[in-house]
Amino acid sequence: MNLIDPRTVILLGGVMSGLMALVLYSLKRSYPASIKGLGHWSAALLLVFGGGMMATGLGTLPDAVVISVSRFLVASGLYLTYVGSQRFFGVTPRVAPWMTLISAVTLVQLWFTAVQPSYHVRLVLANLLAANLFTVHAYLVLKQGSPTLARVLTTGVLLVMAVIQVMRLVTSFFWPMGNNILDTSPHHLVYVTSFVICILLLSISLVLMATESLRAELEHLATHDSLTNALTRRHLNQALRRELARCRRHRRSMALLVMDLDHFKSINDSLGHQAGDRVLVDFVAKVNALLRRPDLLARFGGEEFLALLPDTSPAEALLVAERIREACNHAGPGTPYTVSIGVTTNMNDNDTVDTLIARADAAMYRAKANGRNRVEAG
Ligand code: GH3
Ligand code: MG
Ligand code: MG
Repeated sequence: MNLIDPRTVILLGGVMSGLMALVLYSLKRSYPASIKGLGHWSAALLLVFGGGMMATGLGTLPDAVVISVSRFLVASGLYLTYVGSQRFFGVTPRVAPWMTLISAVTLVQLWFTAVQPSYHVRLVLANLLAANLFTVHAYLVLKQGSPTLARVLTTGVLLVMAVIQVMRLVTSFFWPMGNNILDTSPHHLVYVTSFVICILLLSISLVLMATESLRAELEHLATHDSLTNALTRRHLNQALRRELARCRRHRRSMALLVMDLDHFKSINDSLGHQAGDRVLVDFVAKVNALLRRPDLLARFGGEEFLALLPDTSPAEALLVAERIREACNHAGPGTPYTVSIGVTTNMNDNDTVDTLIARADAAMYRAKANGRNRVEAG
């Protein structure tokens, strides 16, 4: 007699899936709606829970009912975890072909339960379906790029699950098989236990992926302006301090641009605040298109913006500023507007963030005084 039997393991696994379904449901309720897939993951684990509970009823209810329903619930649950991940990553799920496949496999399994009973055929079918699902799911997470800890964990668990399914399939041809899932042979117990543990690990890694996504979203909110998506003043100040220290260490040159839209108040007054907002969004898009990868653009307040250009000489900085001024001056489809720009670069070791900003600001005011729609160096 084994210390534990498959029924206990499946029961415990089912209960754990049910609990993780609750955890994911509570995350769905409390996390922002922009984090998708939590509801699907929660429902998926509930299906696995249902399937597990049903499987433990084997021997007490008709085999055909228990086996068909439990296999269908577990397969649908595994598929739904994949749908949840697709929604999480913004991929449109194609439900019909998968549900057709799962239903077809369930029907064939019903045949091999009620008409021509064969645990081996049922097992092979279930293994093939599950291995397929875990593999496409792992590939989905893998191809999202930026391998974060949670994504690596999710991919790893899914690949292990796929490998276990394939191993189960292969070994079923030469290791003795019982009559059903409650078979008490040690290797069967190992397979059942590893599946239960992997489902728990998978749900934990899904929770971690959602938490990572929430953190990224909060970080974005804290560092970006909500209207224009430019960086916030605080974030740029920190970056400026870091860059200035780096320049001092490596004797490098960096540039700072202060940009203020011209007569912006009159755009608001004549065309309305919303038209003004659209100009601000358009301005940020134009500037971002002209900046290089390491450059940073921040909204300093109202219609005033600051750009930090690392590793940039005074001559290059003037060229960039002139390009920005020119791009705004170009009549496009929207409201016409112009910008005045003050440019400065770090000059000596005594420069601080404040002296840099003050110099660029003074240059910008000179550009205003000299007629606007101009670039001045300071
Ligand atoms: P100048 O050429 O001298 O810079 O004149 P200006 O009109 O651009 O400058 P002023 O400082 O007088 O006006 C800035 C205006 O920007 C006033 C304010 O209502 C408007 N403003 C500030 N923040 C926003 C915003 O988020 N959206 C809109 N639409 N307007 C804003
Ligand atoms: Mg202005
Ligand atoms: Mg202003």
